[in-house]
Amino acid sequence: MKAYYKSHVGLVREQNEDTVLVDEQQGIFILADGMGGHNAGEVASLLAAETLRDALQRQTASADLLRLAFRRANRAVFERQLGEESLSGMGTTLTALWEEGDHVLLGHVGDSRAYLYAGGRLRQISEDHSYVADLVRAGAITEEEAFHHPRRNVITRAVGTDESVRADVVEILKAPGEKWLLCSDGLTDLVRDPEIAEILAQFSGQEAVEQLVDKALLYGGKDNVSVLLVEVDA
Ligand code: CA
Repeated sequence: MKAYYKSHVGLVREQNEDTVLVDEQQGIFILADGMGGHNAGEVASLLAAETLRDALQRQTASADLLRLAFRRANRAVFERQLGEESLSGMGTTLTALWEEGDHVLLGHVGDSRAYLYAGGRLRQISEDHSYVADLVRAGAITEEEAFHHPRRNVITRAVGTDESVRADVVEILKAPGEKWLLCSDGLTDLVRDPEIAEILAQFSGQEAVEQLVDKALLYGGKDNVSVLLVEVDA
């Protein structure tokens, strides 16, 4: 699989707390969106992504190993902030693809997203671990209401904020020509799914990544915007 990506600070924030990490040879693709005061979010997302990558490298992909690697990343971030007051409370989303033969494993915690674009259709594969997603699942509000909800950025699961974390893991058969899109909420808070699908239909590779980031900036770029596009060979 081939990866194309961009992480942009956006038009409002002073720091970029997102991390994108790719090891194409080993089939490891990671996106993390950190949170915390000062530069703590940056520390959290980078530490989580690097710990996850290190735990996966030179291993044969399996769902159990991926879950274990997420726990390791969680512990690294959690322990790092103990005794370092400026880092207290930091955490991060963590979303990763791990390629193995004809399969792809997806591991996920938080409200960054993993979409699969195949056959002209865009499907969100990851489940948002967020307050508004819980409300939508419970039938209390609609998707449309969630998009405009004042508490839409409250997440219910993060890496590094507690002693342990449970990652969602799914395994999906690879198909030629399909595209995985991993992105931070700086994209999806501003650009709706039909617009994302339209861009992926029209563009591929780095051009698609640039178009997606530009769209988020056009709509205000209020947060860091990170886009990681992973294309399965046709
Ligand atoms: Ca964000």
